[in-house]
Amino acid sequence: MDRQQEFVLRTVEERDIRFIRLWFTDVLGVLKSVAVAPAELEQAFVEGIGFDGSSIEGLTRVYEADMIAKPDPTTFQVLPWRGERHGTGRMFCDILTPDGSPSLADSRNVLKRTLAKASDKGFTFYTHPEVEFYLFNQVSSPDAPLVPVDTGGYFDHLARGSTHDFRRAAITMLESMGISVEFSHHEAGPGQNEIDLRYADALATADNLMTFRTVVKEVALEQGVFASFMPKPLANQPGSGMHTHMSLFEGDRNAFHEPGAQFELSKTARQFIAGLLVHAGEITAVTNQHVNSYKRLWGGAEAPSYICWGHNNRSALVRVPMYKPGKGNSSRVEYRALDSAANPYLAFAVLLAAGMKGIEEGYELPEATEDDVWELTDAERRALGISPLPESLDEAIELMESSELVAETLGEHVFDYVLRNKRNEWAAYRSQVTPYELQTSLQFL
Ligand code: GLN
Ligand code: MG
Ligand code: MG
Ligand code: MG
Repeated sequence: MDRQQEFVLRTVEERDIRFIRLWFTDVLGVLKSVAVAPAELEQAFVEGIGFDGSSIEGLTRVYEADMIAKPDPTTFQVLPWRGERHGTGRMFCDILTPDGSPSLADSRNVLKRTLAKASDKGFTFYTHPEVEFYLFNQVSSPDAPLVPVDTGGYFDHLARGSTHDFRRAAITMLESMGISVEFSHHEAGPGQNEIDLRYADALATADNLMTFRTVVKEVALEQGVFASFMPKPLANQPGSGMHTHMSLFEGDRNAFHEPGAQFELSKTARQFIAGLLVHAGEITAVTNQHVNSYKRLWGGAEAPSYICWGHNNRSALVRVPMYKPGKGNSSRVEYRALDSAANPYLAFAVLLAAGMKGIEEGYELPEATEDDVWELTDAERRALGISPLPESLDEAIELMESSELVAETLGEHVFDYVLRNKRNEWAAYRSQVTPYELQTSLQFL
C-alpha cells in the first residue's frame, strides 16, 4: 500500500464514504462506472476489480473478455452531488488484462504512452481546453423541437439569466473536485455556454474533461434543463467546439517561448505547429469523430475549415494567441478543430504525436496567414498552399486509414476499432432519408 492509497482509505473512512465509483472511458469517449464498497478498496488497489470487457465499446474481443480496472489513487475525489453523508467517491482507473499488463484498448493508456514518449525527449505536455456546450429545455423525445434555455449571445450578461446560476453551480462543483476553472461566459448561440479549464498536464486535463461532462450534465438535470456537447445541434447556430491550447515544458521552462522571435515562438513551437498542420487531415477522425462534427466544421460561425495557422487569426486552424509581455510561460498554440464530443485521451494523444513528429523531423512552418481564410476563393487558398480539413466523416476516415502516425499512436487495436466503428457510423448515416430531403424534394419531384 503506498501513501496515496492509504490516504484514500483514510479519507473514505473519515468522510463516511459508502460507495467508490471506479471510472474509465471507452474507446468512443463514453464514461463507464462500477461502484465498489469501501471494504473492497484495499483489494482493488492491489489486484484491481475484474469486469466483463466484451460489453464495453472497443474494449476487448469476445474471447478475451476478462478485464481489470485498477484505480489511480491520485484521482480520488468525493462526488459533490451525492451529498455529504454516506457519500460517494470516485477514482479514474487504468484498464489491465488478466496478466496485469496495460490493456491495448484503454484510451487512458494510449495517452499515457504518448506522454511517456514526449517525456523521453524531455517534454511535459500541457493542455487547456475551452469547452462549449448548449443548454436546452428538457425534451421528452429526440424528435421534439429543441428549445435553448435563453436567447443570449456572445458574452451577454442576461438580467436574471438562468445560465449565470448554471455556470456558478457547475464551477463550484468542479472546484470542489479539484478542477480549476479559468473563465466562463455565455457563448454566441442561444443557450450556449463556454467554460475554460485552467491548464494542466494532459492526462489530468483529459480526466478533468470526463468529470466536467458528467458535472455539467448533473447540474443541468438538477436545474431542470439538459446539456449537450453535440458538435452542431442547431443547423443555423454556432456549433460547440473545444478549442485546446497546448504547450510543451522542459522542466519549469515553456519550450514554446523565445524572446525576440516572431510572436515570441521558439523553433520547437514552430516545428510543433508544422506537425499539427501536416497531420491535421489524418487526425481529424479522432478529434472530430462524429458525422455531426463535420456540420460544425463546415457550418461557418468561427469553426475552422482550412489548414493554416496565424497569430490571433480566428479563421485559422491553429491560432497563436496574443503574447503577453513578461509572461513567457503562457506561450501556447490553440488548436481550434477539436470538438466537445471527442474522446479527450485519444484526441490529446494524436495532437501531441502530430506536434512531436514536427519536432523530430524538423518540419518547416509555412508563413502565417493574416487573411480571413473563409473570405478567400478556392484559387486564392490554393495559391497560398492552404488545403481544407476533411469535409465529412467519410473523408476523415479515408485519411486516417492510411496514416502511420495515427496507427502508431493509437496502437493497432484502438486504430482498427475506431475505423470500424466510424465506418459503421458513416454507413448508417448515409442510408438515412432526412427531413431536409423530404422538405425539398417530396412535393417537387
Ligand atoms: N463555437 C465556435 C466553434 O465551433 C467557436 C467560437 C469562439 O469561441 N470564438 O469553434
Ligand atoms: Mg474562448
Ligand atoms: Mg468559444
Ligand atoms: Mg478559443
